[in-house]
Amino acid sequence: MTDPALPSVGAPPGTPTAVEIFDTTLRDGAQFEGISLSVEDKLRVAEQLDWLGVAWIEGGYPMANPKDEEFFRRAVNELQLSTATLVAFGSTRRKAGKVDDDPTLRALVEAGTSTVCIVGKSWDFHVTDALETTLDEGVAMVGDSVKFLRNAGLRVFFDAEHFFDGYKANPEFALRVLEAAATEGADCVVLCDTNGGSLPHEVQRITGEVVSYLEGVKVGIHTQNDSGCAVANSIAAVLGGASHVQGTVNGYGERTGNANLMTVIPDLTLKLGIETLPEGRISRLTSVSRHVAELVNLPPHAADPYVGSSAFAHKGGLHTSALGRAGGASYEHVDPAVVGNRTRVLVSELGGRAGLGMKAEEFGLELDGAQTKDLSERVNLLESQGWVFEAADASLELLMRDVQGWTQEFFAVESYRVTTEHLNPAGGNDAALSTEATVTVAVDGERVVTEGSGNGPVNALDAALRSALADRLPALSKIHLTDFRVRVLDAADAAGNADTGAVVRVLIDTTNGDETWTTVGVSPNVIEASWTALVDALVFGLLHT
Ligand SMILES: [Zn+2]
Repeated sequence: MTDPALPSVGAPPGTPTAVEIFDTTLRDGAQFEGISLSVEDKLRVAEQLDWLGVAWIEGGYPMANPKDEEFFRRAVNELQLSTATLVAFGSTRRKAGKVDDDPTLRALVEAGTSTVCIVGKSWDFHVTDALETTLDEGVAMVGDSVKFLRNAGLRVFFDAEHFFDGYKANPEFALRVLEAAATEGADCVVLCDTNGGSLPHEVQRITGEVVSYLEGVKVGIHTQNDSGCAVANSIAAVLGGASHVQGTVNGYGERTGNANLMTVIPDLTLKLGIETLPEGRISRLTSVSRHVAELVNLPPHAADPYVGSSAFAHKGGLHTSALGRAGGASYEHVDPAVVGNRTRVLVSELGGRAGLGMKAEEFGLELDGAQTKDLSERVNLLESQGWVFEAADASLELLMRDVQGWTQEFFAVESYRVTTEHLNPAGGNDAALSTEATVTVAVDGERVVTEGSGNGPVNALDAALRSALADRLPALSKIHLTDFRVRVLDAADAAGNADTGAVVRVLIDTTNGDETWTTVGVSPNVIEASWTALVDALVFGLLHT
């Protein structure tokens, strides 16, 4: 049976046929809590964005931040961008100041990019109350700055800050600001939902009104996710006529984030038939999402649309048997391969042997009837003891290989030991806390004893194991643990007996930059559970890297 065709989709008449993608991960995204990027990190993120094929990469704010200044210096000299153009960000001239001696504008010219993006105020209240100047001066600040930058030979984008709130309060002033930017030669005027409080119906209507008012001027959209509508608002703006969309990888951004380009791009491309990336690039989306998550050192979001590891994951009998019979289209809104992702079958007691068979196929393994029966019994037994294979594909694959008689030959563990010492526990001084691990392993026929230290037992064990194996197994340098989760199961036993019944489940997420995988360990002892998950994480990585 072949897949039923996906419903045919397309944009309503009047929608732009192409939208340029403007990425601001390195500027707005870098404001996300928990992100702190070195210049080196920023260069690597920029390479990923270029590989994906976005049109514009906003690199940062050279005036506000010396690190951004260095980024532009190195980016202009070192990066070989093939599809993207680098953009420096700044603001308009100061009030009552002159453009030629304005430090922000000078920093923009000195950043050395061909293109700059400046932000200016379009909400009357912010001009009169925050800037404490007249509305006429507010308009002049925008017009003068665009003109100055254009005269310096630069392409200029204008971000209209608080545009939607400003338009609702005083549409005449908000439009005057845009008009000043457009008249002085801005390439695109970008409507910003700076506080992120707008809803899609407003964004679509207001964008439509701006597009018809400014006939012939390119209009862009920049949304924040404070109402949970950043992606929806971006789509709404495009339906209203916007042809330039700003956003970030994985939706990183101030507060609740920006429009997630990993969702916006496939929504526009696959659902509305709008051109966004160069031909053939959209299949790189999942890889870029995960690679950038690794570069910014945040765990990828499993439930993210299109690119998350759960985006095409199916659990339970009905789903999985329908998938087996009819293929993906029966329960998937798009073919996951189109965005570089894949269908996953989640194995649990519900899944049964049919699920395990499909899972084996997914891993490229062939199990015969006896092996499937053996595997099914072992999975059921282990799950009754607290293991969860639906969340730990990598451990399941290793278990399947084990059932087939495979054993890993990368290394053999003889013993490990880990100690934590606190020299000043009462003082609460973490600097006095140290964890050290020793492992003894056989690798390449040689017995090696190594030590490692870390901020906790898993780190220390990981470090010790790596120093034992690094020389012989260089692929390990690409493999990093990204997340670690512990759960205590069955802790509430009979009174006074709580710890005898408790087991601990540890899940470890690991990546090699292209793929991420999860392993599981269960034991009454948290270190042993961690060790099991850690060893499987590295073995799986070595097998697949
Ligand atoms: Zn923003």
